[in-house]
Amino acid sequence: MSKLVIVGTVAFDAIETPFGKTDKILGGAATYIGLAASQFNADGAIVSVVGGDFPQEDITMLQNKGMNVEGLEIVKEGKTFFWSGKYHNDMNTRDTLATELNVLETFSPVVPDAYKDAEVVMLGNLHPMVQMGVIDQMNDPKLVVLDTMNFWMDIALDDLKKVIAKVDVITINDEEARQLSGEYSLVNAAKKIFTMGPKYVVIKKGEHGALIFHKDQMFFAPALPLAEVFDPTGAGDTFAGGFTGYLAKTGDYSFENMKRAIIHGSCLASFCVEKFGTERMQDLKREEVNKRLHQFKSLTQFDIQLT
Ligand code: AMP
Repeated sequence: MSKLVIVGTVAFDAIETPFGKTDKILGGAATYIGLAASQFNADGAIVSVVGGDFPQEDITMLQNKGMNVEGLEIVKEGKTFFWSGKYHNDMNTRDTLATELNVLETFSPVVPDAYKDAEVVMLGNLHPMVQMGVIDQMNDPKLVVLDTMNFWMDIALDDLKKVIAKVDVITINDEEARQLSGEYSLVNAAKKIFTMGPKYVVIKKGEHGALIFHKDQMFFAPALPLAEVFDPTGAGDTFAGGFTGYLAKTGDYSFENMKRAIIHGSCLASFCVEKFGTERMQDLKREEVNKRLHQFKSLTQFDIQLT
């Protein structure tokens, strides 16, 4: 198994969906990525920052999931990154109500020495210059994956483009792919994004699954239709954690294996949305994942006679 470096926010979230509302609960891109990657027993290290207001029990929980937290800085006198969002009735779109960078504003990431030779780097959502700071510390990773969001396109596009130029894979949602490329068609958006650097483009479409593009090939992973979706927060990060956790576990970075990796990502994301925040991902058992992978297979498998 290869090592995995995960950078992203470790956060407090306040979420409102048509089913309820939460006060500040555990969230953050790196938290969801780490929880998803832990399903593969990936040897992962989280590189991030929190304030003195962050509970030790949440750090211990991440450690118990097998995550190395040497690179999780605690700024005692600072406040943890805070995000608040409200979902629309379709549960696929949301408004960001607040983004408070707090300790992230002055964060300078430090990758633990033992992880500088990691094969896979997952640059989760946070400031593009922090993502760049992590790339610069790595020895010679085999695969660098970047996730980002409209917030950074709006306030740090030039920096973001510099990081995009250095990565192998980008994972973004459909609206962000359109914003970044200026193309409406996702096929054309992927083509345009290839010219910015990445050889693989993954476009997440929420409840409509995810697409991966490479050269002139494409592959689609559905999202599992669920009877009840409580909170989509973190689904994209969980997808990315499943994708990179699977690739780190198998050590195979071919397009064929990436197809399996996006199915694993989609499968894990289907659990994330079943409860508020990280609750479902914290309790998730390997047997449940295996069972659901079978459901994914039968969802799209069909026999057809082609001439
Ligand atoms: P997702 O639903 O996959 O887009 O991820 C939501 C998670 O990303 C939440 O737990 C937030 O704490 C975190 N988040 C929201 N906005 C940002 C941002 N601008 N930068 C980094 N992380 C963010």
